[in-house]
Amino acid sequence: MQKHPLVKEILFSREQIKNRTSEIAQEIEKFYKTQNLKDNTLLLVGLLKGCIPFYAEFMANFNFECDTDFMVVSSYRGGTKTSGDPKIMLDVNTSLKDRDVLIVEDIIDSGYTLQYVKKYFLNRGAKSVRVLTLLDKPEGRQVVITPDWSCFTIANEFVIGFGLDYQERLRNLPYVAICDTTKLADWKW
Ligand code: 5GP
Repeated sequence: MQKHPLVKEILFSREQIKNRTSEIAQEIEKFYKTQNLKDNTLLLVGLLKGCIPFYAEFMANFNFECDTDFMVVSSYRGGTKTSGDPKIMLDVNTSLKDRDVLIVEDIIDSGYTLQYVKKYFLNRGAKSVRVLTLLDKPEGRQVVITPDWSCFTIANEFVIGFGLDYQERLRNLPYVAICDTTKLADWKW
């Protein structure tokens, strides 16, 4: 496979991501089968745009009745550092009253985004709010928050691909990779 020049190291191939997502989808299915959900249905909320490929892969493996919705919460300054001040740019359309919500996220770094979204959903009447993330970067954490399900734990590196961007690009790489940040200052698209 051709490596993008901004890639330092490929961490997870598409195949590895697919296998792990299918495994975790089964775990989550088992868990929710033991819960008493409104209309026996879960509400899956994807945090755009990073969640797109992971959300699609998860859904295709998730054999459980679910409604789907999305949110855009901006918390990045467009570079490689978190701003710590999340803002809702696009809200969910679904009523959250008494709903059991599973947030589908690409990566948890500082935790500010998820802390904010979880609190927001609970304030809007959600019965439960759980979190599934493709990647967890626990060393970056600024607030106490732990995902309920995480496909992979990674070190404190800036990663790209499989939904994760650098300046809105590179989301289409079919793998998760460590970005070679030494090249970013002089990088011309
Ligand atoms: P947090 O609020 O947990 O710091 O950050 C959550 C959001 O920051 C993620 O949804 C993602 O958009 C972005 N983010 C955090 N770490 C990385 C990373 O290593 N690479 C990229 N491309 N985005 C990241």
